[in-house]
This record gives sequence, structure tokens and C-alpha cells, in this order.
Amino acid sequence: MTTQILILGGGITGLSAAWFLKKQNPYAQIVLLEKESRLGGWIRTSQDGGFFFEKGPRTFQASRSPHLLALIQELPLEIVPSDPQAAKRYILYKGVLRSPVSFLPQWIPVLIRELFIAKGQKEDESIYDFAVRRFSRRMAELFFDPLTLGIYAGDMRTLSIRSCFPTLYQWEQQKGSILRGLFSLPKKTGGLFTLKGGMESLIVALERQLHIDIVLNCPVEHIGQNEVYAGGKRWAAQKILSALPPALPSRSIWVVNLAFEGDVLSRKGFGYLVPSQEKESILGVVFDSAIFPEQGAKNQTRLTVMVRAEEAEPLAAALSALRRHLNLVYPPIYSSCFFAKQAIPQMEVGCQYPDGISVDACVLRGYKLATSLN
Ligand SMILES: Cc1cc2nc3c(=O)[nH]c(=O)nc-3n(C[C@H](O)[C@H](O)[C@H](O)COP(=O)(O)OP(=O)(O)OC[C@H]3O[C@@H](n4cnc5c(N)ncnc54)[C@H](O)[C@@H]3O)c2cc1C
Repeated sequence: MTTQILILGGGITGLSAAWFLKKQNPYAQIVLLEKESRLGGWIRTSQDGGFFFEKGPRTFQASRSPHLLALIQELPLEIVPSDPQAAKRYILYKGVLRSPVSFLPQWIPVLIRELFIAKGQKEDESIYDFAVRRFSRRMAELFFDPLTLGIYAGDMRTLSIRSCFPTLYQWEQQKGSILRGLFSLPKKTGGLFTLKGGMESLIVALERQLHIDIVLNCPVEHIGQNEVYAGGKRWAAQKILSALPPALPSRSIWVVNLAFEGDVLSRKGFGYLVPSQEKESILGVVFDSAIFPEQGAKNQTRLTVMVRAEEAEPLAAALSALRRHLNLVYPPIYSSCFFAKQAIPQMEVGCQYPDGISVDACVLRGYKLATSLN
């Protein structure tokens, strides 16, 4: 018998596509094929040894997550807002943590000049070229470089400003200036949030409520017009929706989760980013327990260190960095290293991947896939 709709890939994009298809037609016959033995793709919450950690996505800006928030409400799941202190962020500068605001006095001339710089004429350019053109080389290296590393583990000289930071690109196009765009933001943006029970509760809730046929351990090998070869079998379908990872180059990273006894952070905040010029093997550190204190045991500090993929000893590299940057000399009571292989698609200059790679963008992509069948 022919299945009506085949969905390929059981990450949040594929599961969202199934959710929206079911909303359109509760009787739709859907089969989802997933390569791994679990659903969720990069969304993965761990309670290993009783320590709460996310291996993948963890924080979302409420004002930039309309599709994700709508889905969460429909399921419905409980949201956990971030602690107000998570608004503080740091940059490593000459081995010391600094607030970006502390650079403001020296950047004032550059920022004032930015208000009067003409719009760029190119359809797309690298993040580096954009930042140098509108601000300065120094600001590109100090601010745009760690931001690009922190979000995309990528090189600002090759990644696209239009695809990676669409808001900045649009501010230039529509308001003529990044600063003007920043000033036009509403005062209250809703802060950050995550899900009670972790991000994987989104996957569990979708799986429970979808009532579709899910086939795990079923890698797709070939996609034809109305047929797919997967798991050594032919699957016929009237429609095929691919929610497989995009055909883009991608980067890997080490995700190192660490827990320490007691409150060992002298500074609270979201965490810190590390510019390339610091010549460190880590890209940044997320202060998990400071952002969402209720997600772990009390009197415990949980940190996630993003370590460059090339690092042979990620745990040692993470601990060395924390010792030097945060004066954290105590041994951790828990540690784990997860290699996120080819996890982050690289949207290079000229790339056509308009929605981006955030979880919110994946939910939107799922919606677009589902409605493409109408
Ligand atoms: C470490 C890390 C941190 C992140 N942090 C954030 C964050 O804080 N906020 C945010 O918004 N985003 C974040 N992201 C990005 C976001 O998590 C991902 O872009 C998103 O989860 C991708 O979802 P997806 O369903 O499109 O793809 P995936 O999660 O890659 O899902 C694709 C699915 O397809 C399956 N698959 C692959 N090949 C085949 C095949 N041949 N046959 C069958 N199945 C196949 C895979 O096993 C997988 O289950 C982060 C990503 C990583 C890696």
C-alpha cells in the first residue's frame, strides 16, 4: 500500500512538519523515517548521573522565537524564563572577562560615524566585510568574530551577513544604520527562555501527540519522485517531505558539560565569548546554572564549554580555560564531552538558506514544508 506522506528526518524540522500536516488534516497517513535510534536530532537533554545538561540548543530569545513559542503553546509545554542576571554577557579580552559595554568609550567615534555610512551596494557580503565597512576592523575582530564563533562555530570572513545575521542586514537596508536599528528595538524584548524539563521535552511531547508511524534506525539512501530507499527497503508515497540536514558545508564542535560543587562563579551572567585573537582552543562558555538556576540541583554550578573540533583533549582544554579565565581551580563533580559532528551548517556568502538554523527557523521550515502540499 502507498503511504500518503513520507517525512525524512526526525529532528525538530521533520517533527514540526508532521505536526502542521496533522493540524491541516488529522487523518493524513504519515510515515517518518529517521536514521538514528532516537528522535530530536541536535535537540538532546541529558540527566546523566543526575546532572541536568543540554547537549544542543538551550536558550531562545522570546522576541525572536514566534514560531517556536506558538508550537510550545499548542502542545502545551511549560516555559522557564531566564534569570535576570543572564542579561550580562562577557567577552574575553587579553585573558580577562570584560563586559562589551566597557569598550563603549573607545568605540564612540566609530559608532557615531556608523550612523552616516551609506548603505552597501552588494546583495550579500561576509560578516567581516560588513563589520569593517560599517564599523572598523578592530570591532569586527573583537565583537563580530566571537559572535560568529559562538553561534556558528564559523569564520566571519566566509560566512554571510545576510544569512547569519539577517536583522543587522535588514537594519542597514531599511533603516540605513545598525545603530538606528538597535535604537528602534522595543525596550522590553521578553528575555530568554527554555523549557521545563529541558528542550527534549518538546520532542517527547511531539512524539506522544503526533500519532504517526515513526521508523527509527532507517537511514534514507535514495530519494526518487514518489519513492525513497531507506533502511534497505523501498518506501512509496504520494508526497515526500525532506527535513534532512541542509546540503551546506558544516562545522563540528565539542560540547563539554561540567558541574562543580557549590556556587563557584564570581561573576554571574549568560557566559562569555572568546575572539580568535585570544588564540584559545575554546569558543565560549555558557553559565547554565546562572541562566536557568531551577534546572539543576541547588548549590551546584553547571557550565558548558564549547571547544574547537580540532582539540584532541577537550576536557583538559575546557578545564585549563576555566582555571585561567574564571580562576576555577576545583575539580568538577561531573564532566562529559560530546562531539557534535558536522552539527552547524555554514551559511557562506551568497548562500540561499533564508530562514537560518535556529530552532525557531526549523519550526517555521516545518510549517512551510507542511503547507507546501496545499
Ligand atoms: C551544540 C548546538 C547548540 C545549539 N544551540 C542553539 C540554541 O541555543 N538556539 C537555537 O535556536 N539553535 C541552536 N542550535 C541549532 C539547532 O539546534 C539546530 O539548527 C536544529 O536543532 C536543527 O534541527 P533539524 O531538525 O533541522 O536538523 P537535525 O537536528 O540535524 O535533524 C535532522 C534529523 O535527520 C536525521 N537524518 C540525517 N540524515 C538522515 C538520513 N540519511 N536518513 C534518515 N534520517 C536522517 C538526523 O539523524 C536527525 O535526527 C544549536 C545546535 C547545536 C549543534
